[in-house]
Amino acid sequence: MKRIPRLLLSLLLILALSLSFGGCAGFPSDLFPEGPGNVEGPPDKPQSPTPTEGELAIHFIDVDQADAILILDGDKTMMIDTGNWPDDEHKDYMLDYIKNLGVTVIDYLVLTHPDADHIGGAPEVINTFDVKNCIMPDCTKTTKVFERTVAALENKNVNVLLPEVGDDYTLKNATFRILAPLEENYSDTNDYSVVLRMQYGERSILFTGDAEAASEAQMVARYTAADLGADVLKVGHHGSRTSSSQSFLELVDPDYAVICCGVDNSYGHPHSPVITRLTGIDAEIYRTDQDGTVVLLTDGETLEFTKLGKK
Ligand SMILES: [Zn+2]
Repeated sequence: MKRIPRLLLSLLLILALSLSFGGCAGFPSDLFPEGPGNVEGPPDKPQSPTPTEGELAIHFIDVDQADAILILDGDKTMMIDTGNWPDDEHKDYMLDYIKNLGVTVIDYLVLTHPDADHIGGAPEVINTFDVKNCIMPDCTKTTKVFERTVAALENKNVNVLLPEVGDDYTLKNATFRILAPLEENYSDTNDYSVVLRMQYGERSILFTGDAEAASEAQMVARYTAADLGADVLKVGHHGSRTSSSQSFLELVDPDYAVICCGVDNSYGHPHSPVITRLTGIDAEIYRTDQDGTVVLLTDGETLEFTKLGKK
């Protein structure tokens, strides 16, 4: 695995500050490109099922039109994306959610790609918790939130790692492997998304960020069902029709699919063709816009989903 030297991190920050467009897709500079969402304040406490010893817990947190996934493996913690935090309500909700699970250390923070609906809360997460390692793609964006994220990583001296395809990591009992991004120059920021497959006993979960059809096609060309197949799929790009291509879904062949998206979001996610494709491969669908936060517990054999309901 390749660590980003501090000098390179500084250069990334300078690049982000100096360029008029992002370094990966020509996206315009905007703080919250996918909208602020409308979280209705923090709950008193997440009513999450408690994992027994030897169980892995994955929280697909309801953060409106954004991704935030918290993974607890014994005393090891991982977070994949942080949601979008345009105001104190979002901030308090997410901080309380994480703290109420007893988390103080985040061993791995994965920022799949630098869009605000994925890294919006990253500066606060990095400043609040003891983040040991951060995996993020070699892709910059000229937004305030990206600049603040890079600055927080520097200030807290977080070990920043580039996602090298084929690299394996271990939490406690869970392992995960980096599967994408498979090239260095995409036309769409979403295709830089870090894709990783987690293995826990006999069960596997595939996390795709916002990877689009272009990244999916590369994965289909490169990998076998043994590499890419998963029991659970975190559906790419909030259920957009530009992801979840038929060939990709057939190779992954998940029994369960989780879509993270906001109620009545302006993008119309999830798009109906994606629902049709998922239904067509007999995947049972969970949606944060309908189910609220979805918690998955697995002992490595069984998979148990709990819907915490809308806030
Ligand atoms: Zn997104």
